[in-house]
Amino acid sequence: MHVTGHCYCRKITFEAEADPASVAVCHCTDCQELTGSAYRVALRAKNFKLLSGAPKVWIKTAESGRQRAHSFCPDCGSPIYSGAPDGKLDDVSLRIGTLDQCRDLEPKKQIWTRSALPWALDLHGLEGHQKQ
Ligand SMILES: [Zn+2]
Ligand SMILES: [Zn+2]
Repeated sequence: MHVTGHCYCRKITFEAEADPASVAVCHCTDCQELTGSAYRVALRAKNFKLLSGAPKVWIKTAESGRQRAHSFCPDCGSPIYSGAPDGKLDDVSLRIGTLDQCRDLEPKKQIWTRSALPWALDLHGLEGHQKQ
């Protein structure tokens, strides 16, 4: 599926071929800290192409020693993708909230549920408001 996306300040824009079957909610503690939120929703994509802007890249080393390049907008801080540490962009993980097609990309699974914040797994009972 062809997807397009942008960071919050729109200096970074991109396109890619994403796999809608790979959309996953990740509850790992790295995603919690890197997003500043309860979990990350991401999907795999190939043929990632930057159309404008230049993300800052930070190399994360996991407990296992595996390295991933995490990119984000140096101005507004939106996470853009993670990929191979050598900078190749043929197999990246995109962050759902930056995609123009995010409403159509429903998650297919949850991973790292053992570190899920206990309240993050069911928001059904929570009072809802159309706006703030
Ligand atoms: Zn930005
Ligand atoms: Zn994660």
